[in-house]
Amino acid sequence: MKKIAYFDSSHEMPLEMIMAAGFTPYKILGDVHQSNDPADKYLSSFFCPAARSWLTEALAHSQDWAGIIFAQGCNATNRHYDIWKVHVQTPFLHWFGAPLLDSASAKKFYRVELQRLISHLENQFDIKITSEKIKEAIGKSNEIKKKLQRLSALRAQKDIPNRDYLAAVIKCLTSPVDEVVTWLDSEITAWNSKPAFPVDKKRFLLTGGDITYVEWMDTLEDCGIRIVRDDLSVGERFFATLIPDANDPLDALMEYYMNIPRPATRPTIQKRLDYLYQALGETKVDGVLSQNVKFCEPYAYDSVPVNNALKDRGYKVIHLERDFSPAADQQLANRLAAFVEMMEVGNNG
Ligand code: SF4
Repeated sequence: MKKIAYFDSSHEMPLEMIMAAGFTPYKILGDVHQSNDPADKYLSSFFCPAARSWLTEALAHSQDWAGIIFAQGCNATNRHYDIWKVHVQTPFLHWFGAPLLDSASAKKFYRVELQRLISHLENQFDIKITSEKIKEAIGKSNEIKKKLQRLSALRAQKDIPNRDYLAAVIKCLTSPVDEVVTWLDSEITAWNSKPAFPVDKKRFLLTGGDITYVEWMDTLEDCGIRIVRDDLSVGERFFATLIPDANDPLDALMEYYMNIPRPATRPTIQKRLDYLYQALGETKVDGVLSQNVKFCEPYAYDSVPVNNALKDRGYKVIHLERDFSPAADQQLANRLAAFVEMMEVGNNG
């Protein structure tokens, strides 16, 4: 089954529409191991390096995709769309205007955007996207979300390396849906048979921008940190809630996408905090690790009020700005190791 790739700075793309159209949804995540030189011909280097990597991937691989959909997210989305229109070869390029707000008029607009996406897909690929097909896609999407909920809950109970969790979520966002459903079953069985959570690791919640490569998770591992909760889009935001039942599947999608835990690119900060408080209430952690990749303004700006609010509630919080590189960052590792050490001193003293 051919892929339709999507540019999504958060979890705004209604990928059930891609499934209902008979394609595999493929989230573009770039490749941190490849130089961004191809994208840098079109974008300044102070642009977010994650999104520049997505352009690099598209320039190299767009011929493998039946089309590309942009879901409105951070400011990078708009600028990239303008550039991709001209420089990325694809037979199908669509802008999905996911609204920033969740007001009554925004909900109305969301439905209009869903209809516009359906029409464009139907005309381009000579298909019919029926309500039944969308409902079937919603069913499969919910199946994956439920299995990911079960899998991710094992992080706090079993010896699951940070990279294994991130690799699992990335697989779910980039692989054929039916393959993912079967694979998740075997992964849940495998994780369940792992040893108990290691006594020498600290439990952390990870918040901020998306981590898109497993090497960064290894750095946390080396510092004695295990991520047991998160609010990332390549993470819990993707499966925290299920798509509700509704007679009209467009209403179900609208309700779902407008009520998932909020990223920094959507108001309000309080709504983003609500999910963090909920996660921290459900799972006991030793600390909170907040981070953003360099030049990511939404998460950098948001981190100050979000982290202050968490500190006010007594949580131990560290914020880091990181590079977009698979190489181990020793300065960052030193800061994290010192933070963990201070926790131990605090606990013992
Ligand atoms: S890392 Fe930040 S700036 Fe880059 S795409 Fe994501 S939200 Fe946008």
